Amino acid sequence: MKEEHTALDAAQQLAATGDMETEAFRHYGYQIVDWIAEYLREVGTYPVLSPNTPGDIRRALPEQPPKHPEAMEAILTDFDRILMPGITHWNSPGFMAYFGITGSGPGILGEMLCSALNVNAMLWRTSPAATELEQVTLDWLRQMLGLPRPLFGIINDTASSGVLYALAAARETIADLHIRQQGMAGRSELPRLRLYTSQEAHSSVDKAAIVLGVGQQGLHKIGTDNQFRMDVAELERAIEEDRAAGWLPFAVVGTIGTTSTSSIDPIPHIADICEHYKLWLHVDASYAGIAAVDPDMHWILSGCDRADSLIVNPHKWLFTPVDCSVFYTRKPDVVKAAFSLTPEFLRNAESSGDEVPNLMDYGNALGRRFRSLKLWMVLRYFGQEGIAARIREHIRLAQELAKWVKEAPDFELMAPTPFSLVCLRAHPRGIDDETQLNILNERIMNRINVAGHFFLSHTKIHNQFTIRVAIGNLRTTEQHVRELWKEMQTCLTDDIKSC
Ligand SMILES: *Cc1c(COP(=O)(O)O)cnc(C)c1O
Repeated sequence: MKEEHTALDAAQQLAATGDMETEAFRHYGYQIVDWIAEYLREVGTYPVLSPNTPGDIRRALPEQPPKHPEAMEAILTDFDRILMPGITHWNSPGFMAYFGITGSGPGILGEMLCSALNVNAMLWRTSPAATELEQVTLDWLRQMLGLPRPLFGIINDTASSGVLYALAAARETIADLHIRQQGMAGRSELPRLRLYTSQEAHSSVDKAAIVLGVGQQGLHKIGTDNQFRMDVAELERAIEEDRAAGWLPFAVVGTIGTTSTSSIDPIPHIADICEHYKLWLHVDASYAGIAAVDPDMHWILSGCDRADSLIVNPHKWLFTPVDCSVFYTRKPDVVKAAFSLTPEFLRNAESSGDEVPNLMDYGNALGRRFRSLKLWMVLRYFGQEGIAARIREHIRLAQELAKWVKEAPDFELMAPTPFSLVCLRAHPRGIDDETQLNILNERIMNRINVAGHFFLSHTKIHNQFTIRVAIGNLRTTEQHVRELWKEMQTCLTDDIKSC
């Protein structure tokens, strides 16, 4: 960042107290906004994956903390010089690893206001607007997704926190065990708890099982069919067998848009089973659930009206900066029963009524950022139609790429493409040794990542190294997808030549 003043401002002079001066804030504020605008315009020109090696940043920074005030100019220069090379550009149109995200213009502006207000929405009275906007915005999103009311929504930092809260609530529904009061350790009368998810589920389910004292053995992973969807017959068999063996089943986690392949578990069938065996049904639709903002895609959430809890992540495919993960539940009272704990200093008159929730009652965190502000701005700025148009385009681009892969003799699709994630690998004619194919595909992916125009990640499908191309950034166009496809083909040709 270019800046003519290198001097300290008045608030930084010896023995000064108080915050940065208004005029200094305005000056650097404009400078930073200009920087952000340029960055967003030029983000596609940076190497997507940071070229740094481990320790580069740490070595470039002083070991000792700053003793005296430093000029903003110097701080911003170091941001550019030292930190920027260590940034992997998630906002780049070439970012196609994991799942695509976008910190969109309206989302960034909302985040700026959020940090300026700096409210903590733990209680309604600690900022009524933060609590009530969250309720209104999440009800708008519920309607956009085509989900029936009543549905209580709350924003968490991540889906990983959300699944933990969902399963803690599920545990709270188990009659007569009083785990909230008595815990689980050292109780010989307590049956071992078990929950179910598919082998394709996200690792946050495993982590929740670990944290809740259910343990990894308490998480029963169910196999999947040839399209990577949970095998419901196996689920039902597992529940029966576990019950016969003395386990106490209490919850099932289904996924809409699994991490490896974006497959969709058969939620209506899973809901049947959960109702029959009285198990809590949590649906993890973190990435793909957002696609239902397009009315033509409402079907992907079928059965979710029967789920006890559901997560979608606006910080994934809804153009909202991290962090913003939406947790919906049909049983807010149960979630509250699992988590509500009001120390004397937080008691107040409004808390006693039912008119407004206190957001601190629905999870582990007391403090809460005003996250709904950025989501509200994103929803209003794009509107349902604008969001749906962009999601449809991402899906179209993925379908195009999938078609090119299918038609190419030396590449193959590794999984269906229900959304905007394409799973593929190179499979040149004449090379059928799986170890050789794994090495080849890893090499192709690494070459592309080093070249810097794109960043791709991988998964293993049936032990076969699979390249994932995840399309989901607002700046990604057909041109980018064509260039990636060309680059993949060139990498394969070069690879074969060099061997
Ligand atoms: C991304 C993702 C998660 C984890 O989301 P966080 O908000 O980063 O915790 C969980 N499940 C699925 C299916 C995901 O795609």
